[in-house]
Amino acid sequence: MIPSELSWKDSFKNGLRSIEQVNQFFNISLKEMHFDNLIPLHLAYRIKEQGLDGILAKQFLPSNEEIADHQEDGLNDPIGDQNFSRPGQIIHRYKNRALFLPTTVCPVVCRYCFRKNELSNNDEIFKSDFQKTLEYFENHPEIEEIIFSGGDPLMLSNEKLESYLNSFSKIKHIKYIRLHSRTPISLPQRIDTGLTEVLKKYANTFETLSIAIHVNHKEEIDADVTAAMARLREIQSLNLLSQTVLLKGINDCPNILEDLFKKINRLGIRPYYLHHPDKVKGGMHFQLDIKAGRIIYANLRDKLPGWLIPQYVLDIPGGYGKTPLFNPEALEFSGVLINYKSQQIKL
Ligand code: SF4
Repeated sequence: MIPSELSWKDSFKNGLRSIEQVNQFFNISLKEMHFDNLIPLHLAYRIKEQGLDGILAKQFLPSNEEIADHQEDGLNDPIGDQNFSRPGQIIHRYKNRALFLPTTVCPVVCRYCFRKNELSNNDEIFKSDFQKTLEYFENHPEIEEIIFSGGDPLMLSNEKLESYLNSFSKIKHIKYIRLHSRTPISLPQRIDTGLTEVLKKYANTFETLSIAIHVNHKEEIDADVTAAMARLREIQSLNLLSQTVLLKGINDCPNILEDLFKKINRLGIRPYYLHHPDKVKGGMHFQLDIKAGRIIYANLRDKLPGWLIPQYVLDIPGGYGKTPLFNPEALEFSGVLINYKSQQIKL
């Protein structure tokens, strides 16, 4: 039974972190845990309720699979963030937009995430120097959109988030702000009045304020998540998008994705990205090949209207950027992708 009075701060503070806490709470016997772990308490109860074979456990509970031999093929920095790191807390890969990384904190550690290795290394990218960040944005008028990533930007305090948004609102060429977050799913109580007030204010300040909510399966959406989405939806000019990672054993099936996209549509969220999984050390058991992904995606085109189908993309390892993966001429994958700069990259 999930304790109903659990605040998001308590749920986060008392989350399961150590191997002993995880083994005790779930009554399991993990031998080793090589990667960081955090399961907020509320989510831990949900995982227990759904069962250890459920899609929540598979995504958020550390497992012995993470240290199996085939994990050696995974990378620590699969999308090449290091190559585009700029002074401050910025990754500037595409001309008109840049990532801003204001925090290393996530409300949860997703076991397939490409950032989990960076986060635990406390990488240089995340070293904070906001003055340098501001100067970089001010001196690059080609940047129109700032994308808050991390970590999870909704783990910032309301005051901190507001102060960043306020600073960026003074830079004339910044028109769009986007926040990428898994918090509405993993810690839905965080979407509280204080936060929605900040979002409401800045949804009316910038040309577009978007939240791209990371959601992979309809069973991630319970009554608390639905209520959190409803609170976001009340902010009229807020642009609600989704991003989904295609994961073996979780959602690698057109019917599951169809259900998910229809469900989030009912919550007012527009499917935006379907990411092919990154080759992450410790997350290789979620991998599927590109041909399998293309077949799933081709099937979606039969089940959903175009506006309900996200873009299927891969972040090409090495920092070559996001590249659409669907090829209507051939479902077979040749082994070579052409990125946004017309570079041919052999995978
Ligand atoms: S919340 Fe996002 S950044 Fe954090 S571990 Fe999960 S997927 Fe990665």
